[in-house]
Amino acid sequence: MENRFHQRLSNRKMIMGKEDGDLDFSPFILSCIKYPFCVEAYNQGNSNHWLPQPIGMARDIAQWNDGVSLTPDEKRVVEISLGYFTTADSIVANNLVLAIYRHITAPEARMFLLRQAFEETIHTQSYQYIVQSLGMDEEKIFMMYKNCKPIWNKDKLSISNMDNIFDPHFKLDSLDKAKMFLDNLVDFYVITEGIFFYASFAAIMSFQRRNLLPGTVEQFQYITRDESSHFQFGIGLIRTILGEYPELDTPEFRKSVKERILYAAELEELYAHEMAPRGILSFSASSYGTYMRHIADLRLRALGMDPVFNVSNPFPWMAEILDMSRQKNFFETRVTDYQLNGINPDEIFA
Ligand code: FE
Repeated sequence: MENRFHQRLSNRKMIMGKEDGDLDFSPFILSCIKYPFCVEAYNQGNSNHWLPQPIGMARDIAQWNDGVSLTPDEKRVVEISLGYFTTADSIVANNLVLAIYRHITAPEARMFLLRQAFEETIHTQSYQYIVQSLGMDEEKIFMMYKNCKPIWNKDKLSISNMDNIFDPHFKLDSLDKAKMFLDNLVDFYVITEGIFFYASFAAIMSFQRRNLLPGTVEQFQYITRDESSHFQFGIGLIRTILGEYPELDTPEFRKSVKERILYAAELEELYAHEMAPRGILSFSASSYGTYMRHIADLRLRALGMDPVFNVSNPFPWMAEILDMSRQKNFFETRVTDYQLNGINPDEIFA
């Protein structure tokens, strides 16, 4: 048994791996793990589990409608953020299930991908819950990806390396194809989940500092926490693939990744200006560019590349809020009011 596991592990690769005896299908045999970061990410996801509906929206609804709590500029931030996220998280989920999952050959990585796909669905459900609770114009929000140019430009970059991988006949069996796959991973994990979410995350978190929209903010805290673990996992994937196929780690590849990250940071800055043209309290328009350059540097560093801008974070409170959210436990904060289909979990587990 020892030997068979050993054999398996030596044949296991993140992509283009073939484990002996399992050429027809790849069962999850998790008693031997080659990539512990995948299992850690999966376990982390489980302990971060949450659901939107138990989060109360009563105060949000009151503040949204009282005509004094929120300025029109602040309402615009919420609408445009939801307009972007409703499509972005669906694109991420589709790419995950219809493209990435098919080509990953390590079972422990596939295990995390299934957890991630579920989390993306929870996020989509959460946006819908906020839109409906606040009584927004659903047509306007859900069609924003078509009607709002800065959103469309971001989506266009996200899906720019998607076509080949999405083709059901695409078989990942050569280094050329592995390069296409890697480009797709960069577009989704680094650019979409690592850059394009951040102007909205910062803007929505700024409401927390003024006790505005607490239900919306709480959901975004959980989403931000999930997304930062998706990003970490993506970096692990990309770095593992580059380590296993060093031929892919060329100066051209690095140059193209860097250019795309810098371009994405520019698009995100334009999006931030569309979302909050005059800025809102704690989130000032003159800092958008610096913030996005700071985020771009963090992403470059995570990929083992040199930072370009070396600027400091103009919104240092973001890091504090994210740190606090990391400690937050969804179930502990609502032991008494959490209900699942009308059944109190205390009655099931006590
Ligand atoms: Fe995600």
